[in-house]
Amino acid sequence: MRGPSNYSPLAMSDRPNLKDYSLERLRECFVGEGLPAYRADQIAGWIYQRGVEDFAEMSDLDRALRERLQAEWQIRCLEIDRLDRSTDGTLKAILLAADGAQVESVLIPEADRTTLCVSTQVGCAMACTFCATGALGFTRNLTTAEIVEQVCRMREILDEPRKITNIVFMGMGEPLLNLAAVSEAIAILVNPKTFAMAPRRVTVSTVGVLPKIEELLAVAPINLAVSLHATTDRVRDQLVPLNQRYPLDALLDLLRKLDSVNHRRPVFFEYTLIEGVNDSLEDARRLPALLRGIPSKLNLIPMNPHPESVYRPPSDAAIDAFLRVLAGAGMTVTLRRSRGDDIGAACGQLALRRTGAAAA
Ligand code: SF4
Repeated sequence: MRGPSNYSPLAMSDRPNLKDYSLERLRECFVGEGLPAYRADQIAGWIYQRGVEDFAEMSDLDRALRERLQAEWQIRCLEIDRLDRSTDGTLKAILLAADGAQVESVLIPEADRTTLCVSTQVGCAMACTFCATGALGFTRNLTTAEIVEQVCRMREILDEPRKITNIVFMGMGEPLLNLAAVSEAIAILVNPKTFAMAPRRVTVSTVGVLPKIEELLAVAPINLAVSLHATTDRVRDQLVPLNQRYPLDALLDLLRKLDSVNHRRPVFFEYTLIEGVNDSLEDARRLPALLRGIPSKLNLIPMNPHPESVYRPPSDAAIDAFLRVLAGAGMTVTLRRSRGDDIGAACGQLALRRTGAAAA
């Protein structure tokens, strides 16, 4: 990627964004432009640790350098366009990119943590049939700066002393189909001189883009989440069309081999429970055998209904029965009740209000 090469001001749209660069790459870029590498560290400290996005305020840079940076780079690329607050405290933001693209982020405050769910694409090409984003289709990949900026903008709306403690790549899009930008964003999140997040507090979720999983886990010892949602290929083909290319056996075989690659961290399996589709006791009985040999935790998520979907959540009694079978088999399983479903922020609901707004 190009860096600054002279002092003449560039048009804003031609200026590279500092947030597109991991600190390592920014140092290389600065050195290539005749600047000392430590300048990159100083600027990253201002942006990520102090939240300063105006070169004029970076007081340990001399004036000539501030003017040069101002003329050749940009820092900000997303602005919050709309913010909805759920009755349970969940916040959903629609952020606007320079080209008008809408990016959705969800902030989930809890007693002991604050999780931010970020998007990696505008829309999604995976077309999962239970997901509102899948119905939108794919528009474009987000840049690294647009992924990182979701963290910057959303941390600004938190009341002190609350801080973002966990980041999950579970918003709009399939992260592994935008892996270059996602990898660079992870490098920025976990670097001690930028966001300094512990890698174990970062989770990337995939529906199973097999050829990219090992590459992702080589970036940092983060958590891997896999959207499973079915115990047979017949049902998974229907819910997650990518399964037709990478079926269950191939997915689970790869995950079994990952133990050493994945720094011995468990894989988090997500299983959306849908009435009459994947919630039978036979499904529950098949799960322990399917996941055998994979250090894992299973998250059950009752389907979040939305008007575009024919799917519904199972009854509480059916969920309890499903859970009892899994507990009896000794599985580590949690039931994740939806957060923010009244504002269209729950899993599988992103893009709902946007499509609603567009239609209005
Ligand atoms: S569940 Fe994830 S991968 Fe599937 S369509 Fe929705 S956003 Fe895309």
